[in-house]
Amino acid sequence: MMTRRQAIKTTALVATAAAVVPGAIAQGRISSGGNRQTDPFTLPPLPYASDALEPHIDAQTMEIHHGRHHKAYVDNLNRAFADFPDIKNLFSVPSYDVLLDALLGNLNSTRLNSVPEKIRTAVRNNGGGHYNHALFWKMMKEGGGGEPKGELAKAIEMSFGNFAAFKDEFAKAGLGQFGSGWAWLVVQQGKLAIQATANQDNPITQGAQPLLGVDVWEHAYYLKYQNKRADYITAWWNVVNWDFVAERYAKLVK
Ligand code: MN
Repeated sequence: MMTRRQAIKTTALVATAAAVVPGAIAQGRISSGGNRQTDPFTLPPLPYASDALEPHIDAQTMEIHHGRHHKAYVDNLNRAFADFPDIKNLFSVPSYDVLLDALLGNLNSTRLNSVPEKIRTAVRNNGGGHYNHALFWKMMKEGGGGEPKGELAKAIEMSFGNFAAFKDEFAKAGLGQFGSGWAWLVVQQGKLAIQATANQDNPITQGAQPLLGVDVWEHAYYLKYQNKRADYITAWWNVVNWDFVAERYAKLVK
């Protein structure tokens, strides 16, 4: 049962969202380049050429991972939203990307029943898949690797002892994830922590903010590394975009 206070809050959100979301589309803040004019989500282009991360991550893996796997998450998410157009009215948000953030953040909430049962699985798997991969491409770059600098470097030292110890713990989380999933460096209650999630789950569903994540699904490495996930993670450190991670950290702790 919804309390009176929750009911008032929900009504207010619906009223605001109804005004905000169509406006955002009209102002071009939401891309409409998907399969249909009304598709709310689009596959973002890779921020570099598909062979930019060679030799650590091969071009064919990047092409299939982005062009087929990530695309499938986007297509399936759009399909789910098409069957449930009212979902965009549940939150007061300026864009569908922010809406996705809110939906994933409220996935486990039963208090407001904010993500309808009918699309909950699609939001978790395909929404999470889109969200995670859109982040993942930005967390890597050509000529990446090395070590973080500044405040992030200090925070890593404070939380894990030193950078090598952090890498070791992070890699262990990736190796220890049984089956498909991710390992993450997150900010939770102002502190750094390492988490692993299954499938396309994201730390925001558990109340943490992801700073850095490595995709340990076999589709991320199998062509080049086969079953050697440890070799993939070792190579992956060479493409981490620490500037992007440091920017996220600065925004989250300010
Ligand atoms: Mn993937």
